[in-house]
Amino acid sequence: MYHDHTPIFSLEVFPPKRNAAVGTIYDTLDGLQGVDPDFISVTYGTGKQSDRTATARISNTIRQEYDIPVVAHLTAQYLDRDGADEALDMFEQAKVRGVLALRGDSVEGREPAGVFDHASDLVEYIRSKHPNLTVFGACYPEGHPEAECLSQDVENLKKKVDAGVSHLISQLFYCNDDFLDFVRTARAAGITVPIEAGIMPVMNVGQVRRMGRICGAHIPRALDRMLDKWQDDKKSLRAAGIVYASQQISDLVAQGVDGVHLYTMNHPGITRRIWQNVGDLFTPPTK
Ligand code: FAD
Repeated sequence: MYHDHTPIFSLEVFPPKRNAAVGTIYDTLDGLQGVDPDFISVTYGTGKQSDRTATARISNTIRQEYDIPVVAHLTAQYLDRDGADEALDMFEQAKVRGVLALRGDSVEGREPAGVFDHASDLVEYIRSKHPNLTVFGACYPEGHPEAECLSQDVENLKKKVDAGVSHLISQLFYCNDDFLDFVRTARAAGITVPIEAGIMPVMNVGQVRRMGRICGAHIPRALDRMLDKWQDDKKSLRAAGIVYASQQISDLVAQGVDGVHLYTMNHPGITRRIWQNVGDLFTPPTK
């Protein structure tokens, strides 16, 4: 296991847009003071305008200036071997603990490099070139949208784990039973590595509906009622979203999950309020 205790708690941040003020990421990281994650992961942009050095630079800042272990994301389908080497070298210099190896989504008008067709190809490559890096992978409790069915997706996930992934982080989900059923299916398929549950707090109606469309996340009735009731009242919806995410996390911990990965969406205030609710569940009990 990557960490010496369970459940673990981790956060995800993303690099600010190219034209954002330089201090934006500091606002996010400063705002997370008081939250005690086991690591922070930093996403990697696939778009044409993405800055290839941003993930490594922010990873370095988090580790050096905030003293928090970092996992850097890397998407592979538009990279050739030189591009992957360049990114991995930057990550090593930033002293990241691990790399979340991803295929990434398709970008309109961009032709894949044809070297890393699946995340598992990148996983194998990292294992061969950087054997000391821990390799993380993504998983999809409700199945990846391109997979024909969940069992096919889990078969592919097993290939990714066999290629060298030692820790999985899940796509967001709003119904804990979907995640817990998926974990049982993955275990039955021989996947034994830790599986962290991805939780994205509800912030606005558009975000949840969009996620439902893009990742096929099922929206339970309780959440649907919240969205209806507070669709025009942002403040109340956020408050309810914090309660909803906190309850999801508390129930997951009660059910023995390996860990929880909170998608902060660079909103530290929301993350802090969730941590105030559930932080004690992640610290070892004192007698
Ligand atoms: P893969 O594991 O390659 O799977 C993609 C599809 O191919 C699935 O349908 C799978 O069943 C199938 N497949 C996999 N292996 C095989 C095989 N050997 N043979 C046949 N079929 C196969 N995107 C970003 O752009 N930047 C990020 O930083 C980012 N971070 C993410 C973090 C997490 C935790 C998650 C869950 C997603 C993240 N994404 C990110 C989104 C991700 O890039 C997309 O979901 C993408 O569509 C799939 O990436 P993957 O690595 O899971 O792909």
